[in-house]
Amino acid sequence: MSAGSPGRGRPYDMIPERLKDEIAARLDFYRELGIEEFFIESRPDTRLNEVTTTELPQPTLAEQIPTQLSTAPQEGEISTQATLTMKRPPTAARSLNLFEAESPRPKERETLDDIQRDLGDCQRCKLAGGRKHIVFGQGNPHAELVFVGEGPGADEDERGLPFVGRAGQLLNRMLESVGIRREDVYICNVVKCRPPGNRTPERDEVEACSPFLFRQIESIHPRLVCCLGAPAVKTVLGLKDGILKLRGRFYDFGGAKALATVHPAYVLRNPREEKILREDFAKIREFLN
Ligand code: URA
Repeated sequence: MSAGSPGRGRPYDMIPERLKDEIAARLDFYRELGIEEFFIESRPDTRLNEVTTTELPQPTLAEQIPTQLSTAPQEGEISTQATLTMKRPPTAARSLNLFEAESPRPKERETLDDIQRDLGDCQRCKLAGGRKHIVFGQGNPHAELVFVGEGPGADEDERGLPFVGRAGQLLNRMLESVGIRREDVYICNVVKCRPPGNRTPERDEVEACSPFLFRQIESIHPRLVCCLGAPAVKTVLGLKDGILKLRGRFYDFGGAKALATVHPAYVLRNPREEKILREDFAKIREFLN
């Protein structure tokens, strides 16, 4: 409704002075606590002395919808940033009166163990039927660097660990070449169960599994997420261009950065392209320095 609509004045003008002072004092109190933003839920029945205000928690990575580029990357750009489109949590539903609101407590970050427990003996998609092991992820739970691959292959399915086959050996070699120890990073995949014949994970599989990936990243809270190959870039950043166009660039990813590069399996099939991985791992090294 516009400010000039019949029967409704501008809400601020209609708040009694005494209440304005109380609100100002309460907002100063929250500002001192470092809380700057409130979201006011407007209701059709706007009662004058009931200021309904809801403090929306920051959306978690798991609650974010895929990212979109605010501006398309230009050919030849050194670095292009993708802007995360943050989705407001769907349930801002119950609105508290500002004066009823409990003092906000910092939200505790869930641990990888919590997430793995929640995943359980997952049957959320059709990949469950063909797996030997769920490949949850491996590495330092406080890593500064997280790698996201596509999905477990035969070796990974056999052992329940990510990147332990030929692609993993190449990944190890790349890490070693820039002086990063595998045990210092965290490695996981878009999907946690092996797709049959190592095919690309399908949309419903990614939809079922990726919330766990985002929760893992949120829990680890890395500085950099390295997406290995197009499915990882599409899932993590929502970018659908070809990997050769997107690779080598850093993108905004929540409070962190994400780098897109080619999947090691691509280099195994095209050995002359190893220079791409070398170049991008040098960027990782430089970023972390
Ligand atoms: N390829 C992937 O994408 N992930 C693995 O864990 C192994 C190979």
